[in-house]
Amino acid sequence: MTILMTPIANGNSHWRNDVLKDVLFGPAGYPPEARGNPKKVFEIIREAGLTALEYAAVRGLNTSEEKARLIGKYAAYNGITMSLHAAYYISLASTNMETRETSKQRLIKALKFAPWMGVKRIVFHAGTHGGLSDDESHSVIKNALQEVWEQAGYLGEGALLAPEIAGKIKAFGSVEELIRLCSELEGTIPTLDWAHLYARSQGEINDKDSYLKILQRFEDGLGSLFVKNMHFHISGIEYTKAGESKHQPLGSEWGPDILPLMEIVDEVGYKPTFISESTEPIRGALYAKYVLEELENSR
Ligand SMILES: [Zn+2]
Repeated sequence: MTILMTPIANGNSHWRNDVLKDVLFGPAGYPPEARGNPKKVFEIIREAGLTALEYAAVRGLNTSEEKARLIGKYAAYNGITMSLHAAYYISLASTNMETRETSKQRLIKALKFAPWMGVKRIVFHAGTHGGLSDDESHSVIKNALQEVWEQAGYLGEGALLAPEIAGKIKAFGSVEELIRLCSELEGTIPTLDWAHLYARSQGEINDKDSYLKILQRFEDGLGSLFVKNMHFHISGIEYTKAGESKHQPLGSEWGPDILPLMEIVDEVGYKPTFISESTEPIRGALYAKYVLEELENSR
């Protein structure tokens, strides 16, 4: 297969770094059909009509500089906007000091790799509260991220750290916690995972009114920083009293319902990046895109 040139592709890897021009859709992780071949990965995504990819470094960033640069090149050629999901086992407020340190190092490494891969957002879970009070874990996590940013923020060449809404109620990452963290720290934006919000709220955050309230809180707390950098995760999900239990397909029998969210995007004119963490990520991203297109067409 050869790389197909598109009008968006100009070979410049430092494109679109601040204000998103459009609503973007893409999968979390490589499509399995590409069998790990990065050239195929980006062809598949572009040919599907999608415009984003969240590179899954969920078991750690185990690639070389050379491969990272190649990924950035293919992404730019195919007009795909990149984000990166850092390791699952980041735990910035861990009771184990060594874990806290390796967690910081993982984020520093992600910042270093970001410009090579064309990545502008580094998504991660801050981890547990480490048995600390909410205030204590807030300051431990905040201090850790501040150190990461002071040491390595410049390496990311505009990449932002994007802590995610936690799917488990007990983990660090509620709406309040993320607004407080991102408002006090330079270099951070929130990742809104609507499936996690649905699971945390035991299915309550599932209609236009509740979606609008969440968006309003982030907008009030973070202003244009939030609006200009909307990074959303979508998926179907199963939950228990503790929060998320299992990701499921989007647009099927599992909530949350994304139609009201798309109605808001359509009506207000927000320009989020939607990353599908559905069990079949490309299919989920296409479903979300279809819903928004239908709304736009019916106006
Ligand atoms: Zn997520």
